[in-house]
Amino acid sequence: LIKKTTPIPVALYGGRHAVTMLPGGGIGPELMSYVREVFKYAGAPVDFEVIDIDPSDESKQIEYAITSIKRNGVALKGNIETKSENTEVISRNVAIRNELDLYINVVHCKSFPGVPARQKDLDLMIIRQNTEGEYAMLEHESVDGVVESMKVVTETNSERVARYAFDFATRNGRKKVTTIHKANIMKLSDGLFLDTSRRIALEYPDIEHNDMIIDNCCMQLVSNPHQFDVMMMTNLYGSIVSNVACGLIGGAGLLSGRNYGDHYAIFEPGTRNTGTAIAGKNIANPIAMLSASVDMLEHLGHLQHANLIRGAMLKTISDDRIHTLDLGGTAKSTDVVQRVIDHILESDIRP
Ligand code: ADP
Ligand code: MG
Repeated sequence: LIKKTTPIPVALYGGRHAVTMLPGGGIGPELMSYVREVFKYAGAPVDFEVIDIDPSDESKQIEYAITSIKRNGVALKGNIETKSENTEVISRNVAIRNELDLYINVVHCKSFPGVPARQKDLDLMIIRQNTEGEYAMLEHESVDGVVESMKVVTETNSERVARYAFDFATRNGRKKVTTIHKANIMKLSDGLFLDTSRRIALEYPDIEHNDMIIDNCCMQLVSNPHQFDVMMMTNLYGSIVSNVACGLIGGAGLLSGRNYGDHYAIFEPGTRNTGTAIAGKNIANPIAMLSASVDMLEHLGHLQHANLIRGAMLKTISDDRIHTLDLGGTAKSTDVVQRVIDHILESDIRP
């Protein structure tokens, strides 16, 4: 991939971090190879512990992955496909988030100048409950032809999400938090989520708080998205809303998502796609996973490396307009990566 002969900067001794890397399926492995290449040229002081999880393998590998994340504290992750139709086999992605109690998911939907998009200049924070709600995976067929699925909402987790949202708004000079729900129909579950957010809102008088029904929210996102600032919601609504917002900005290939608990953090592409159909073709957009890796560097406190890589990505996408197929361009994945590396090597903020 790399043609340049410029020496690779020596990373700091002592200050290196070990991070778990879960490439997952589909485009995951190729996106991870781009991250490693870019980190090498940026001199990012990170050593990856790579754990491949075979989608058809139902063995202990997932436990090994969880142990590794517990040891390292941080992971960069692709999407692990759940191929099995066996109802006993639960999504490994969900299992990891639950086991590590990563109760918050954050997708920062910020427009890239120069990227053709349905909406311009968006800057939304989508904060999602990440471990319960409709993802409780408690389903059963009570009698033939009748299936019940439990949506679990707890006050504890609702409060943790609300606090995260209002603290985030306070720390980042945001003005408004909107709770997204369907409490008119799901009066108890979404009612608890909404009531909890209203109760926490009282502790943050400087931040405006309102709420909106999920269906209206989807319409408003498409027609008038600039009204939103920070949005908080339960798990499934969060999945849908963040995909809508990513779609408005430029699709699945651009944005990153962050999963936080009190002890661990996992960074991944915002829409959590496997991209099986485009795997191995050198056409996947590398930016979403690179953004995730930059989020990870920020989390680890390597701000200089994070700024270096983010700046290089922004120049590549917004100024040079080196765009892959998903953005309407003709560039290959490796063209984007090569240009990002060129900008890194030219940068005067290179550590
Ligand atoms: P899921 O795995 O959730 O079913 P897919 O893998 O089908 O989702 O991805 C949804 C869409 O997003 C597909 O059209 C896929 O090609 C596209 N996509 C996902 N990631 C990327 C990427 N990094 N670059 C370009 N397109 C992507
Ligand atoms: Mg798929």
